[in-house]
Amino acid sequence: MSWMTVLWSMPASASLTFALLHLLVWAKGIQTRANLSFALAALAATALTGMELMSMRATSTEQMAIILRWAHLPLLVLWVAILYFVRFYFDAGRTWLAWSAAGLRVLALILSFTTGQNLFFNEITGLKHIVFFGGETISIPQGTLNPWYVVGPLSALALAAFVLDAAFTMRRGGTATGRRRAILFSGSITFFLLTSVGHGVLVNAGLINSPYIIGLSFMPILLAMSYELSCDMLHAAQLAQQLQASEAELRINKQRMDLAASAAELRLWEWDIILDEVWSTDKGHLLFGIAESQKISFVSFLNILHDEDREQVKLAVEKSMAGNGDYESEYRIKMPDGQTRWFYSRGRIEFSKDNQPQRMLGVTIDITRRIQAELAEQQQRKELTHLSRVTTLGELSGSLAHELSQPLTAILCNAQAAQNFLARDKVDLSQIQDILKDIIAEDKRAADIMHRIRLLLKKCEIEQLPVDVNKVVLDVLKLVSSDLVSRNITVQVDLDQKLPAVIGDRVQLQQALLNLIMNACEAMTHTQANNRQLFVCTELAGVGNAQVSVGDLGPGIPPENLASIFEPFFTTKLPGMGLGLSICRTIISAHGGQLWASNNTGSGAIFYFTLPIFPGESA
Ligand code: ADP
Repeated sequence: MSWMTVLWSMPASASLTFALLHLLVWAKGIQTRANLSFALAALAATALTGMELMSMRATSTEQMAIILRWAHLPLLVLWVAILYFVRFYFDAGRTWLAWSAAGLRVLALILSFTTGQNLFFNEITGLKHIVFFGGETISIPQGTLNPWYVVGPLSALALAAFVLDAAFTMRRGGTATGRRRAILFSGSITFFLLTSVGHGVLVNAGLINSPYIIGLSFMPILLAMSYELSCDMLHAAQLAQQLQASEAELRINKQRMDLAASAAELRLWEWDIILDEVWSTDKGHLLFGIAESQKISFVSFLNILHDEDREQVKLAVEKSMAGNGDYESEYRIKMPDGQTRWFYSRGRIEFSKDNQPQRMLGVTIDITRRIQAELAEQQQRKELTHLSRVTTLGELSGSLAHELSQPLTAILCNAQAAQNFLARDKVDLSQIQDILKDIIAEDKRAADIMHRIRLLLKKCEIEQLPVDVNKVVLDVLKLVSSDLVSRNITVQVDLDQKLPAVIGDRVQLQQALLNLIMNACEAMTHTQANNRQLFVCTELAGVGNAQVSVGDLGPGIPPENLASIFEPFFTTKLPGMGLGLSICRTIISAHGGQLWASNNTGSGAIFYFTLPIFPGESA
């Protein structure tokens, strides 16, 4: 094989290899435009190199004319490929310049076929045979130049202008890559134009004896384009590696999160509001009690909720959609095994730019155990309250028995008197009638006492009804009246007759007041008998509150105990349990009121409690 063949075949095969490689990459769909334009440029360069070799071997002027005519086709492809590469891969260069360069190249191709023998020559008159590199003889065309020849160099100028303009833009971009590309491309293309076009002009003009080197001089551009693409491929490979690493990290984080979530019995969920589809980490939708195969929509979720909870969950979701997107609710679900479980859900809605709810992300936790514990505690508290009531009544039992014995004794006396009257010869019926009236009145009194005791002893559900506070005070005072007498305590009652009703449970309010009165009585055990006074007062306090106060003339509460007396099991009494005041505070708090104590300026303590007035009652 000759030296020339070897010399021209090397870049041709290098270009072809590049072309095929990038065609393959293009076919795989990576960096499509850049690879396609690069592959086309490389193919065109291969074709040009091949044609150059053929022109060197041309044996006739016709052969040479045909080769030079067709050479403008790969040149056009080359131009378009460079323009395309710079415009779309580097995103630089003015469009009108690109169109000018491409247009002139198309014109050159047309002129090559329509004027003279080709764009270079009007007519090739002969072939000059010269001995070139390695002593080989090659053919060079000679003839009259085509006047349209200038279109070729003009298209080269337009291409150079486009590339230089793009290079300035890339340099201005300021990044290191931009600067590198600017230098690499403007440099390699200028080199190409100077060598290929300039050299071609000199050869055609017969000023130098040399084969065409368009294909050869294109090699630096090919290398520059290839270098850029390789850099990008390397970068892409690095990114892929990083992505793999971050995916692995993500997987580990997800595993950790799943572990933490399952340890906390937490389920994460996502509701695609647009598609109305709920996704959850809950394996088998256990938490929702829905079969795994079933798709969960918002309505199907609402359907599995307890009847009483459905509306409030719906309202909570609607509220979060209309508000700031925060959602929170507690609800019950009847599970497939028949059990009812409690859940707590918290979520947040993501809105689109035009404020449309897109999806809701949230967590759900099974709180059945907590609710069960709360219910058990509530039940225990109820039992304790009742027990404390029974204990208080137990303390009052002596005086209650005494109080009850009074109407019973009266009934007995009246019955005996009636017997005596009836034993007489002349029965005065009007007297008998009076006696019977007395018996009935005393019986009613006894029944009244029994009713009050029974009410307090009863274990009943807590009510929320309008309650007359003054009546509660009078009922409790009746209950303790005998006890007060036996303790030599006088009562001063000051009731606000216009006090509106409060909302609550009559029995519980009686219990709280009874406890305060009993404490006041016990506190006055060592007070001089003529100084034992109990004060009970009802009044309006502020807007919307009724206030009850119970005062005594006992020793008062030592200031250091004032904060502790409401704590459970705090007592200063020997047989005391220390539960009375803590139960009182629980009752008053449950009614939405407050209970506190202070010392009188003179002597004794005074306890206050407030209760919200029943809505609708005017103060
Ligand atoms: P207990 O009566 O079983 O001691 P309480 O909770 O009813 O339990 O009362 C706790 C403590 O508060 C009492 O032991 C007493 O020291 C104090 N206390 C309650 N009422 C009065 C009062 N009116 N005067 C002085 N101290 C009182």
